[in-house]
Amino acid sequence: MKTIAGIAEMKAITGELKSAGKSIGLVPTMGFLHEGHLSLVRESLRRADVTVVSLFVNPTQFAPNEDFEDYPRDRVRDSQILDAEGVDYLFAPVNEEMYPDGYHTCVEVQELQDRLCGRTRPGHFRGVCTVVTKLFNIVRPDFAFFGQKDAQQAFILKRMVRDLNMDTTIEVLPTVRDADGLALSSRNTYLDSEQRKVALVLSASLKRALEMVEKGEKDAAVISRGIREQILSQPLARIDYVEIVDIDTLLPLKKITHRALIALAVFIGKVRLIDNVIVEVQE
Ligand code: AMP
Repeated sequence: MKTIAGIAEMKAITGELKSAGKSIGLVPTMGFLHEGHLSLVRESLRRADVTVVSLFVNPTQFAPNEDFEDYPRDRVRDSQILDAEGVDYLFAPVNEEMYPDGYHTCVEVQELQDRLCGRTRPGHFRGVCTVVTKLFNIVRPDFAFFGQKDAQQAFILKRMVRDLNMDTTIEVLPTVRDADGLALSSRNTYLDSEQRKVALVLSASLKRALEMVEKGEKDAAVISRGIREQILSQPLARIDYVEIVDIDTLLPLKKITHRALIALAVFIGKVRLIDNVIVEVQE
């Protein structure tokens, strides 16, 4: 695996690969890799001739009060893991080159960016869309791989690609979980053992919601109440949001009629965790 930090160098390599007719898969990450990231990497290795994994803790998607400084980082371990997977290029640019003095441009997917996580994290999806656009311009991927765990992010990026006529197909892969159900996240490392147990309430409450839907419940308020009650039974957990939304618009549903996204964000102490499931109802 070759590690590249310079944008010009990465663009030169991309240009050569394109001229040689190679397909490029990109897996954007903020590092501190886990099996969730690796599921995306493996899919890219299967689908594309050449796989580029980017590693960049993007400052513009963190608000000033968020965890940019504390975000877990382990470049050496990440690099070893990706090398062992057979990744072709690790692209790890530096802030100063991504956002040099005088940088003033951003990409926004209006309205969608304000829903769900966007309410608690204003500016977050603008930062995500901007950095992903930059990565797409540098790497020019045919495919880019994202996780369903960040459902709103994947949804917004698909819309961005469509709206701006970008030449990249966004592939979304299922959430990878620990054996006990907790969705893998680099932020799980912030949890102590007590909090780690409490954090199971995210996946457990979604599982209960799925069961309610399977038994025929379609009323979003009833399902949402079931989820909230379960989360509130944990004194260390604080609900940021629980929402049942239309899969095509991210707008709240009163009744589940076809496919819906049930998404939630919960604070365990200071750690904000997210999870979601897609439910399907037969008419
Ligand atoms: P991050 O490094 O947290 O920005 O995540 C990089 C990519 O990995 C994003 O597309 C995430 O949605 C994806 N990802 C993170 N956690 C998981 C998971 N548990 N399962 C599948 N994909 C994930």
